This record gives sequence, structure tokens and C-alpha cells, in this order.
Amino acid sequence: MGHSLETTKMHCPNCGELIELLIDCSIESQEYIEDCQVCCRPININVTLDQQEEPQVTLTSQDE
Ligand SMILES: [Zn+2]
Repeated sequence: MGHSLETTKMHCPNCGELIELLIDCSIESQEYIEDCQVCCRPININVTLDQQEEPQVTLTSQDE
């Protein structure tokens, strides 16, 4: 398994802008919070690897 870091572009759930995310593909399932590069609001990032070990990224807003 030679997977390591991979970049992907996703829309921010807060401002809708396209942002670049760095995904660590060596971890099967992870969840963390990162600030948006555009609006600086926190984004909840959920990453799971599918059966082809492709990262499936879900972004959710921290706003309530
Ligand atoms: Zn944003």
C-alpha cells in the first residue's frame, strides 16, 4: 500500500467556495476539524476509504 497524502477539492459547507484539502489516505477512517481557507470558519471533515481505497470525503458545517 503506497498511499499517503492526497489533495482533493471540495466545496466549503459554510461559504460554498472550492477549497483544497489534504487527505491522509493511510488512515482508514478519520474525522477532524479544519478551518476554511476562504471564510476561516471550522469545517468538520470526515474521511473514510472505500474498497478501492479511494478516500470518501464528507464536509459538514460546525454551525448549529
Ligand atoms: Zn468557507
